[in-house]
Amino acid sequence: MVLKPRAEAPLWINEENPDKSAKCLQYQPTREHDPWFEDEELLAAAICNGDYDGTICPIRDECLHWALLNNEQYGVWGGMLPHDRRNLRMAKRADPYLEWMWHPPTPKDEDLDDEELAEFDADLPELLNLLNPVP
Ligand code: SF4
Repeated sequence: MVLKPRAEAPLWINEENPDKSAKCLQYQPTREHDPWFEDEELLAAAICNGDYDGTICPIRDECLHWALLNNEQYGVWGGMLPHDRRNLRMAKRADPYLEWMWHPPTPKDEDLDDEELAEFDADLPELLNLLNPVP
């Protein structure tokens, strides 16, 4: 959690143009289930990155930069997983002129193998049905 943000937060809710609002707002997390901060980070990242509907979150880049600047250690931000963002921050520390660029989530060592990733892709529509869409 960021106590004192180093950058202004993106416009998560765009009232003038709701299509430009954060895509994660379409899903209602519950106390027991919040894919953005749980073991289902790949599912959350798939939503951010439009893997199932071809629609990338309209503020993905802003979200990613905000999370990187504020050193958000947990959860999915900007369609990237915590270990991938950590790698980006470390690369930037080594090269301050490096431009932060989004890249697709990479599995952690202990994560899924290729076969399991393919299974996850196949199960994605079913997993999405388990989420609570905001009416
Ligand atoms: S990129 Fe950020 S704002 Fe957009 S859906 Fe993902 S977590 Fe939400």
